Amino acid sequence: RELSKDEVRKMVKDENIRFLRVMFTDMLGTIKSVDLPVSQLDKLMDNKIMFDGSSIDGFVRIEESDMYLYPDMSTWLVFPWGAEHGKVARVICSVQTVDGEPFAGDPRNNLKRVLKDMQKMGFKDFNIGPEPEFFLFKTDEQGNPTQTVNDQENYFDMEPADRGEDCRRDIVLALEKMGFDVEAAHHEVAPGQHEVDFKYSDALEAADNIQTFKLIVKTIAKKYGLHATFMPKPLSGINGSGMHLNMSLFTQNGDNAFFDPEDERQLSQTAYHFLGGLMKHARAYTAVCNPIVNSYKRLVPGFEAPVYVAWSTSNRSPLIRIPSDRGMGTRVELRSADPSANPYLAIAAVLEAGLDGLRNELPAIHEVDENIYQMTSKERVEKDVRNLPDTLHNALKSLAKDEVVKGSMGDHIYHSFMEAKTREYDAYRQHVSDWERQRYMEKY
Ligand code: GLN
Ligand code: MG
Ligand code: MG
Ligand code: MG
Repeated sequence: RELSKDEVRKMVKDENIRFLRVMFTDMLGTIKSVDLPVSQLDKLMDNKIMFDGSSIDGFVRIEESDMYLYPDMSTWLVFPWGAEHGKVARVICSVQTVDGEPFAGDPRNNLKRVLKDMQKMGFKDFNIGPEPEFFLFKTDEQGNPTQTVNDQENYFDMEPADRGEDCRRDIVLALEKMGFDVEAAHHEVAPGQHEVDFKYSDALEAADNIQTFKLIVKTIAKKYGLHATFMPKPLSGINGSGMHLNMSLFTQNGDNAFFDPEDERQLSQTAYHFLGGLMKHARAYTAVCNPIVNSYKRLVPGFEAPVYVAWSTSNRSPLIRIPSDRGMGTRVELRSADPSANPYLAIAAVLEAGLDGLRNELPAIHEVDENIYQMTSKERVEKDVRNLPDTLHNALKSLAKDEVVKGSMGDHIYHSFMEAKTREYDAYRQHVSDWERQRYMEKY
């Protein structure tokens, strides 16, 4: 709920809030923030806070660099730490131009635009339940991350109380204090790897939550002398970190549009068409949901990450799984996305892909119930099962050909994204690694 200006002023006084952290997200998914002393509260609430947009990745050139931050007061919350110097409240902002227009290069504004299109099609909410995974690494004397994970535990293991477990518990407590509805927190399959699941919320709030979540995890890990990373594949040979996205469309009446008790799988035509869109545009939105070079080291066989474009109600190996919940919990789970994705862009991309399925009544092809990894490549060809892109380069090529997913970003973001990501891939391609020297130095 949006707080009134007076309510905010009162809260600031009652809770001894001394700083305002004003946040937004750049194109690469990095949180940007300015700290304002609380004396600037009125200026903030009057949309008068200005900054230089030319220094933000994917924003604007020097000539047109003045931008304004318009706070979204419904995102107001107080950080549960730092009470010594007075508390810090944060608010997420919309980036606006000097003319007072929402700036098209702001990923959050862009998601709002795509959500408006969805509402025109008669839906109220696109609900997202994210399952972000991350690793905790030990740090050295200087506080820099090492390559040693914090424990040797496994999936759902009950560790003897160690730093990792205490840290994860503290993360959950901090999240709850900030109003998150945490549904589960557990150790993941790889040593040092954890997952925290929070309750679904509408797309915009879910994306805001993901950003806040990453900030909380990193901040609390640091207190424990650990380094938390959302890098998708920090170590070779063990599982990487995904961020499964559970998604569903809700109607104006608050019903789950994916549920139909009459259907053999209890899925509606809306669900099937949405799936059809997710199948059709999978390669293109992979560039957005898996946006860094390292993302593609996770999308390989053998580590519970998807490799093939297929969906299933029974099997966990494909790109999309339909969990067994029905009724209000009916949803599709996208298993490819990873936590390096900009959540605003990733959610806009998958939504637009699904909506394209609805607009064009696409069929939900590529259902595969057997374990795809055990199929021969001939069987996969027969069943028309395609691969996800195997490099950032190939994902970008697919994105460039897909007008629907490009449309989910808008021209401004699409062009900045392509430029930045092409540069990133080129830098990677030109780097000569230890792996190459070890493999080739003596042999050739
Ligand atoms: N870590 C796995 C991945 O990369 C997911 C494991 C799981 O949640 N089942 O997607
Ligand atoms: Mg999970
Ligand atoms: Mg998991
Ligand atoms: Mg999952």
